[in-house]
Amino acid sequence: MSYFSDLGLAEPITRALTSKGYDEPTPIQRQAIPALMEGRDLLGIAQTGTGKTAAFALPSIHRLVENDKRPQAASCRMLVLSPTRELAAQIADNMRFYAKNTRLQVQCIFGGVPAGKQAKKLVAGTDILVATPGRLLDLIDQRALTLRDVEIFVLDEADQMMDLGFIKPLTRVAALLPQDRQSLFFSATMPDAIASLGKRFIKNPVKVEVAPQSTTAERVEQFAIHIDQSEKQALLTLSLLKGIESGEIDRTLVFTRTKHGADRVVRHLAAAGINAAAIHGNKTQAQRTRALDGFRDGKVPVLVATDIAARGIDVSGVSHVFNFEIPNVPEQYVHRIGRTARAGADGMAISFVAPDEKPYMRDIERLTKNKPAILPIPENFVANAAKLPKPTRAPAGAERDPNAKGGRGRGGARGGGGGGRGRSGGGGGGSKQFEERQQRKSAENRGDGLPRDDMGRKRRFRPKGANGVGAHKSAVKAR
Ligand code: AMP
Repeated sequence: MSYFSDLGLAEPITRALTSKGYDEPTPIQRQAIPALMEGRDLLGIAQTGTGKTAAFALPSIHRLVENDKRPQAASCRMLVLSPTRELAAQIADNMRFYAKNTRLQVQCIFGGVPAGKQAKKLVAGTDILVATPGRLLDLIDQRALTLRDVEIFVLDEADQMMDLGFIKPLTRVAALLPQDRQSLFFSATMPDAIASLGKRFIKNPVKVEVAPQSTTAERVEQFAIHIDQSEKQALLTLSLLKGIESGEIDRTLVFTRTKHGADRVVRHLAAAGINAAAIHGNKTQAQRTRALDGFRDGKVPVLVATDIAARGIDVSGVSHVFNFEIPNVPEQYVHRIGRTARAGADGMAISFVAPDEKPYMRDIERLTKNKPAILPIPENFVANAAKLPKPTRAPAGAERDPNAKGGRGRGGARGGGGGGRGRSGGGGGGSKQFEERQQRKSAENRGDGLPRDDMGRKRRFRPKGANGVGAHKSAVKAR
């Protein structure tokens, strides 16, 4: 008997857990599952990585199975709201797994893909629906869905929902839900604004709190390097080349502050033969899915992400997190480094701190009550940086096909598949050109000017003195 069956969770659920190798509940599961099985509302202060998904999924599936009834047409019995597409898809995958021995149906809807197909999936109704708020309301407006039969409502990552400006959609959703329901409200942080949002959804909740954000992932070794902004790219490239080659780096997440910044980093890494992909809001859903899948299955060892896109992403085996830029919201640092050292594994977080980012770092240290150890700039940095190849001009070269050979990914670095420095963006001429064209077209449609700047006026993006001796001197001075 495992703890999960001791709790009285239905047998099909415990069987699924056994097949996944879960023996012990995580602290949030221990605290939340009994109260949720009783039908209580819940206020959870927890970040992703704590086992939060199973904490709400398992007792909810149990209750849906116990009170067995078919969903009504165009409705759902359980609704989970998530701020991002990736997190929604991940939650839906987890729920499908936990419910795999039951007859419960799980559907997932989010923006960025055609709504028609998703509407079709809802015609017969579904037991569990995982959704992002915008697409949910679109489908409600199209009369493809009603929320009147929701028995269990979960609002996940409430603080990020607020950050993303979802307050209006959430207020609308609150008005559409039936009064008689169970509600669960999760947030990584609980400032007043979030707490008052919570009051619209939950009544007399059980409160659970795990790993308060300030205590951070204790198992993450944290380091900082003081370096000029213009030298960060070379430092990153050299660090990754070394780490991938030695096998010390397995999967790495690199965080940038902007979408253009993420693309730029990928281009530079590609030029050095490092297989990397970017994930951010300007990418199409297909590109985001491909990047994440490639990262998950190990073909792409480096994922460069903005905060919004990366929040909540659960990929096991992330050995390193690089903060290419320091977040100005200290909680974001906690989320970022929480991507490594998940579910008990060790991880390493390295922050590149430019002189003007020092105040952000101080805020982070205050919040986490931890001071990252300072690493020196590597020996021969300037000489090695000067030898790095320049990126190709084409933006699509940055987004290398994860299946393409020649990168310094796992096989690429060690297996000697013909990859290596300076050989970026090798083959695949036709399809690459097509992708470039598509990217440019969609970016132009959005009017964000990305390809024009990246292709035509690339110099604008290259910081003065990048990788050069002068730049290094100024960084040393600044320190
Ligand atoms: P989450 O916070 O829901 O994103 O979960 C973080 C990671 O922990 C996921 O990879 C889960 O599969 C894993 N996990 C959740 N519960 C358990 C458990 N009881 N034992 C082992 N791993 C777990």
